[in-house]
Parts: sequence; C-alpha cells; structure tokens
Amino acid sequence: MRRTHTCPKCNHGEILFVPQIADRDDDDTVRPLVVHVVHLDYKDLEMGSLQAYICRGCGFTELYTKDAAQLPVDKIPGAKILKPKA
Ligand SMILES: [Zn+2]
Repeated sequence: MRRTHTCPKCNHGEILFVPQIADRDDDDTVRPLVVHVVHLDYKDLEMGSLQAYICRGCGFTELYTKDAAQLPVDKIPGAKILKPKA
C-alpha cells in the first residue's frame, strides 16, 4: 500500500498517509507514538516513530516505523533481529 497507493484488501485507490500517530502522555499531552522510550530524568529518548497508511475505502491500516534501519537494537529490551530461516 505504501508503494502502490492501492489497498490490498479492497483495491481502493485513495490512501491517507499519516506521518505521525498521536499518543497520549501521562499528563494528557499528546506525543508521537513510538516503538520504544528510554525515560531519563532530564528527557525521554524516543525511538522509532510510527507512520500509517490508511485506506479511505475500507479503513485497512498499515503501520511502518520511520528510519527502521537506524533503530538501536541493543537499547530496546527484548528486541532482536530475525532473519529468514535456511
Ligand atoms: Zn481498502
């Protein structure tokens, strides 16, 4: 859907791209939804902003993580890179 701009579920040709997905913080402020947050006393380190492609025909939604190749795998608890099995 990201490349073809056509919905794979219903074949609709109008896709809404949303560059940032809203998430609500503890104090009811709105922040971008991310894959992982490291909370430090002076700030939060946010990793992996999510982006959405939404079919305007049926609502099917694909999520992608921006700059996925740059995510620090060793800083995300439990994260590991999976590769095709031989
Ligand atoms: Zn659709």
